[in-house]
Amino acid sequence: MQKTFSKKSLLFLGLIICVGCTKPDLNELKAVEELRTMFGTKITSAKDACALFPRTVEQINERTFAVMTYVKQELDKFVALDDAQRTFDNTARAYDVISDNLSIVHSAIQGLHMVSPDAAIRDATQQSENTLNAFSVDAFMNPAVYNAFKAYYNGAAKTEKLTAEQRYYLDELMRDFKKAGFELPADQFEEVKALNKEIAELCVMFEANINTDKSSITVGRDGLQGLEEHFINGLIKNDEGLFVLGVDYPTYFEVIKHCTVQDTRKRLFFAFENRAYPQNKTVLETIIAKRDQLAKKLGYASYAALDIDGEMAATPERAESFIRGLVDKARAKVQQEVALFSKNLPDGVTLDAQNRFNPWDTGYVSSEYKRKFLQLDDRAVAEYFEVEKTLNGVFDIYQKFLNLSFKVSKPEWAWSDDVQLIEVNDKETGDLRGYIFIDLYPRANKYSHACCGGVIHATQTETVPGVIEKKPSVSFVIANFPKATADRPALLKHDDVETFFHEFGHAMHGLVGATDLLSFSGTRTKSDFVEMPSQIFEEWMFDKDLLKNLSAHYQTNQPLSDEMIDKLIALKKFDSGLFISGQSVNSMVSLDCYKEGAVKDLDAIRELHARTFLPHLVYQPNTHRYASFGHLTGYAAKYYGYLWSKVFALDLFYQIKKEGLLNPAAGKRFVDTILGKGGSVDPNILLKNYLGREPQSDAFFEDLGIK
Ligand SMILES: [Zn+2]
Repeated sequence: MQKTFSKKSLLFLGLIICVGCTKPDLNELKAVEELRTMFGTKITSAKDACALFPRTVEQINERTFAVMTYVKQELDKFVALDDAQRTFDNTARAYDVISDNLSIVHSAIQGLHMVSPDAAIRDATQQSENTLNAFSVDAFMNPAVYNAFKAYYNGAAKTEKLTAEQRYYLDELMRDFKKAGFELPADQFEEVKALNKEIAELCVMFEANINTDKSSITVGRDGLQGLEEHFINGLIKNDEGLFVLGVDYPTYFEVIKHCTVQDTRKRLFFAFENRAYPQNKTVLETIIAKRDQLAKKLGYASYAALDIDGEMAATPERAESFIRGLVDKARAKVQQEVALFSKNLPDGVTLDAQNRFNPWDTGYVSSEYKRKFLQLDDRAVAEYFEVEKTLNGVFDIYQKFLNLSFKVSKPEWAWSDDVQLIEVNDKETGDLRGYIFIDLYPRANKYSHACCGGVIHATQTETVPGVIEKKPSVSFVIANFPKATADRPALLKHDDVETFFHEFGHAMHGLVGATDLLSFSGTRTKSDFVEMPSQIFEEWMFDKDLLKNLSAHYQTNQPLSDEMIDKLIALKKFDSGLFISGQSVNSMVSLDCYKEGAVKDLDAIRELHARTFLPHLVYQPNTHRYASFGHLTGYAAKYYGYLWSKVFALDLFYQIKKEGLLNPAAGKRFVDTILGKGGSVDPNILLKNYLGREPQSDAFFEDLGIK
């Protein structure tokens, strides 16, 4: 998952707070000057990267005020220019820089809100996010700003000598302005602004409710059968001596896959599926109603139509027919997989009268099948992926393929002791390319999923003819991997390593960004293309030679055997039909929530798609997954983008594989043709340029064993 502020999101996010009502004191004015210095200077050291994150509540408030003052002053200058004097640099580029500088402060604060262990910091960052969202709406949804841009677009831009990227930027920005409602009558435009502010505040609340959910169940020792001693030893006990099982990812997946006690799995399943419920039901219903209202005001049939307009898929209908097409193609494979599991049930698991599984049994059935018939236990595989060694191995792969050099250290400051900082340099020139903060283990109140967020986006701008200025990036990667226990180091499941490759892939996409404009850098591309690079890098984790090199048993240092590796690779095809079914449910829920209509029955939407795409499961009406489905606010109707971009990812991957997964020449071609281009070129053109043909879905189906 990728968290980033694009130009578009600046126009579409927001909440309420009047800038004028905060009285500046001297500290705050000093903060404006400090920020101006920060914006004007390139990041050159780890110290600079750490300084991007405010450390105290006071600093959060100061920076919030300072960045608003800065943006206001700069936009005033932007508007005041004589139209006859407008050029690309003083108008379009100025807009690009001002909005990016707001995004730097905003992203650092948003990141802190997701990870800070300090309640006061979380409160202050939440308030600041709301303030900045509201401010963004007021500052950028300003008709004077639009008129200034339009004057340039329809005037001097027609004859000014511009690059293809600059011209594409003008067209994209103009389309975004129109999409945002700038052509509406003034009173309706004000309503659109008000809606944007309300929606942004609700989205912040939706995510905070998920992150701070503390659901858990308690069980006695006999309720933990099937789980390993070291895992049990790491659990907390309550005052009555019962073990507490939380809904954090490592605990949940360990129990749901391996605990032989059905009652424990069942109770934890309900706790997990009901995270942030019921609070987020109302929040989501309100978001949906307001987004529907917004879309109608902007002349769209639905929010999904508004949201997908301008993406690769272009319309919700096309996105939906893409998903339905995949499901049709995978149907026979799904039936085979279900039949195989049904015939090989472990003790204690039964099917209902219609031969359907209870959802708390499927993870267990699948892992028991793998253990019994394939002699493959993900916990045994994890013994070959001790965190530190594995991460170094992963870094090694990225360093070789992308011709980079990494230095990992403990940052001089970070929000938690768990955080590490990677400095990335160009292997040949030694140029600094960026910093990546990594925060890998669960903590109370931390963002519970895995994601990557960009604070500064890498660019390569020709400042004077022939001189390219490379700006390094700063990003953070958040994950929730199992922690070390008293008797063994932290070990990663194969899935965890794949997740790390994915999120780190986003960070690399941001870091190798080589666009002229900030709004196009790295991950700032179409939403249904942004998961392509991250999903392509997951594929490195299914290569035999790389797995051999990466794995080392934490006690014996031996790599995985050839036989184990072959099995791991074969697993990709093993339940690929069910993988597509699960992703299709998520995609259809995301599309349906935002189809035409202000009032949605969220439970009915989920039930419809679960029954349609997962007919082998007994539907559980007392579960409310949407309440913790964070993508429903950030990716909104566009969850389909994961499968959509995975098709391209696999098509590209097999081309790269022919050239060599550690071959820096192949990496350079990938960066030069696709990754570095970010959003500066239509992805369809990027794909064709790389492949030398139209993209195809054959590799995707072949890779998943679907005929
Ligand atoms: Zn992702």
